[in-house]
Amino acid sequence: MNAAASHETSIRQIDPAEALAHQRADALLIDVRDPNEHEAGMPDGAIALPRVDIPARIREIAADPRREILTICATGRRSLLAAETLRGLGYANVASVRGGFKRWQAEGLPVARGALDADAAERYARHLVLPEVGVAGQQKLLDARVALIGAGGLGSPAGLYLAAAGVGTLTLIDDDRVERSNLQRQVLHADARVGMAKTESARVALSALNPSVRVQLQGERVRAANVEALLRDHDVVIDGADNFPTRYLLDAACRRLKIPLVYGAVHRFTGQVSVFDARRDDSPCYRCLFPEPPSAAEAPNCSEAGVLGVLPGVIGLLQATEAIKLVLGVGETLVGRLLCYDALAARFRELRLPRDPACPGCGRDAGFAGYEDVARICGASVG
Ligand SMILES: [Zn+2]
Repeated sequence: MNAAASHETSIRQIDPAEALAHQRADALLIDVRDPNEHEAGMPDGAIALPRVDIPARIREIAADPRREILTICATGRRSLLAAETLRGLGYANVASVRGGFKRWQAEGLPVARGALDADAAERYARHLVLPEVGVAGQQKLLDARVALIGAGGLGSPAGLYLAAAGVGTLTLIDDDRVERSNLQRQVLHADARVGMAKTESARVALSALNPSVRVQLQGERVRAANVEALLRDHDVVIDGADNFPTRYLLDAACRRLKIPLVYGAVHRFTGQVSVFDARRDDSPCYRCLFPEPPSAAEAPNCSEAGVLGVLPGVIGLLQATEAIKLVLGVGETLVGRLLCYDALAARFRELRLPRDPACPGCGRDAGFAGYEDVARICGASVG
């Protein structure tokens, strides 16, 4: 006879449906089966933590010993032992799911195919305890695809923090090579990688930080001919471009593909950030803010104008924050607002940025004559 089956236990047992209700009210559901038992999926929102790994890893996953922890296995036997282990480790509020995953499935309760494994549960532990993120939110981040235009000043902090946060796929689009003068602010790169393609250098840094992130490299410049192909199938686009033609192309493509665009820009000691979300009828676009590009004379880029090295760090992280909120669907994004930062004055200022009915990009009379035309309006500043 199975030792577990005959085991006398004082562990509380609950039915799967009740476990689901508790889980939705903040209990942590741990699937204690071995990884090779997950072919049929796992209870939605459960964290995979094999029974043998509980003593070593549970603290990182559940820091608060008062939190309710539910254990589930295949049929409800091993989960009893796991619950006892947890109680022995100081977790007082534990219960085992009666009938296990077999009954969970039989009752038609939600099942997830790609659930969090123990490595992810440990890595993202500080996310999982936030009710606004939790397992479901972390899963959204892991499933998300974010495109970063530019692996430079803005793309560096954004890329690092998005990778750290567990955004599953990051696409880096940049055709530059690392120069020593970049290192004052472009913290994705390193002295030893001067001369390397920025996308490759960034991949090295991002993979070292979080090997589970899929980093896709596009060592191309954004052009009329490739912009839609580069951005298609992404959930969010982060604009870290350093030139106007690229920005106008990104704006046009994100509007047509209905992908939210997180805009950021820096100049000397000031920066600004906003979100243009074409999925929303009330959202402005980039051209509501800048209807036409400035002339080359009025539009110096970073290399000419200078920028305080820390400034893109501030703005790039605000962009990463907006991107994460967009993926999670939490909070209030910067749609309709332009957030301006003055580093010398240490002051943030917020400008209202309504959608402009006469906007040449999204206004009622706006037409789209192709990306070549969008690129042409910037002709003066490409020079
Ligand atoms: Zn507009």
